[in-house]
Amino acid sequence: MKFADRGFATRAIHAGQEADPATGATIVPIYQTSTYTQEAPGQHKGYEYSRSGNPTRAALEECVAALEGAEYGLAFASGLAATTAVMSLLSPGDHVVAGDDLYGGSYRLFDKVLKRGNKLDFTYVDTSDPAAVEKALRPETKLLWVETPTNPMLTLSDIRELSGMAHERGAVVAVDNTFASPYFQRPLSLGADVVVHSTTKYMGGHSDVVGGAVATSHEGMHEAIKFYQNAAGAVPGAFDAWIVLRGLKTLAVRMRQHEENALAVAEFLQGHPQVATVNYPGLPAHPQHELAKRQMTGFSGMVSFTLEGGAEAAYAAVQKTEVFSFAESLGGVESLITHPATMTHAAIPREEREERGVTDGLLRLSVGIEDKEDLVADLDRAISS
Ligand SMILES: *Cc1c(COP(=O)(O)O)cnc(C)c1O
Repeated sequence: MKFADRGFATRAIHAGQEADPATGATIVPIYQTSTYTQEAPGQHKGYEYSRSGNPTRAALEECVAALEGAEYGLAFASGLAATTAVMSLLSPGDHVVAGDDLYGGSYRLFDKVLKRGNKLDFTYVDTSDPAAVEKALRPETKLLWVETPTNPMLTLSDIRELSGMAHERGAVVAVDNTFASPYFQRPLSLGADVVVHSTTKYMGGHSDVVGGAVATSHEGMHEAIKFYQNAAGAVPGAFDAWIVLRGLKTLAVRMRQHEENALAVAEFLQGHPQVATVNYPGLPAHPQHELAKRQMTGFSGMVSFTLEGGAEAAYAAVQKTEVFSFAESLGGVESLITHPATMTHAAIPREEREERGVTDGLLRLSVGIEDKEDLVADLDRAISS
C-alpha cells in the first residue's frame, strides 16, 4: 500500500488518493455511477457494479486502512452498518462479551436485533475492569466488543490487556474507535483484531454526512466482512464516501485543535466553583489518566461534567450557550452540548443509567475547533449566572 510508511497527516491526505488514472484529476472524483461498461465478457477495469465496488469508495477504504495501520478497510453507509457487518462474522449460539456502557445504538442493535434475529448471546460487563471481562468470557465466546473511551463518562478500557485475555480464550476483539479517532488511538497496534468507526463523527468531522468504516489486517476476516458488505448492501454512495475522504484530509489538524480546546475547557470547568465533577482523560485527576497516556497519543475532544446545582442548573445551562449548540452527535468542527439523560441515553432505564453516572445533571460536550477563549467564555456565562 503506497504511503503506508509515511506520517499520519501525509497518509490522511494521500493514501488511496493518487491522481485519477483516467483524467489526472488531483482530487479523487465522485464516481457517481452504478455500473461500468465492460470491454468483453469477464474483461473490465476492476469495477462492475457500485454495490460491489466504486472507485471513490475504494479510495476512502484504502485511506481508512492506512490511518488505522491496517491491511484492509471497508466503508459502510453508517457506523451501525459497519457494526452489523462485523457481527455478521458470528453464527447463531455464539457468545459476545460487550461493554455495559456502549453507544446506545450499538446496544439497541445487539439487544433488539442480533439477539433475536441472529440468536447471538450477549453478556454486558464493565470492560474497564479486566477481572469482570475475564469472568464473563466463556468457551463459546467468539467476540469481545470494546468501546474506549466511552460515552458519556469517558471511561477507558485497556485494549492490550483485554486483547491478550480474549485471544487466550480464542475470541477476537473488536474496538469501536469513534471517540478517539485513529489520530489518537490505533487499536490494531495494541492487539485488537478489527476496528469499527462511525465516520459520521471525527473522521467526517463536519456534521454533514452519516457513514461507517471497518479496518482489519486479518485477510479472512476482511474477506468475510467484504462479502457481507456486497451481499447485504449497506454501502455509502460515492458522494458520501467523497465527503468523508475530504474530511479525513484535515483529521490531524482538527484532532490537535479538538484536544487543545477540550483540555482548556476541562481545566476551566475543573476550576469553576459551580462545577461538581469533570470527566476528561487528559486531566491528571481522571482515574485512568495513566492508561490514557499509555494507550492513546492524545485525549480527544469529548468532555462531560456535572454542576453543583444538579439537573436544574444543567437544564438552564443548555439554554444559555450561544457557541455550543444544544444537539446530539459529536466530532464536528462546531461545539455541541448534549444532555445525555434525555437525549443519547434516554432509552436506558433511569436506575441503570444513574448507576453509570448518567444523572439528570450530567452534560456532555463535543468541543469543537472554534477559538477556545470563546468556548470557555460561553460556558462561563452559561453556568455562572
Ligand atoms: C455515532 C456512534 C455510532 C453509530 O454510528 P452511526 O454513524 O450513527 O450509525 C457507533 N459508535 C459510537 C461510539 C458512536 O458515537
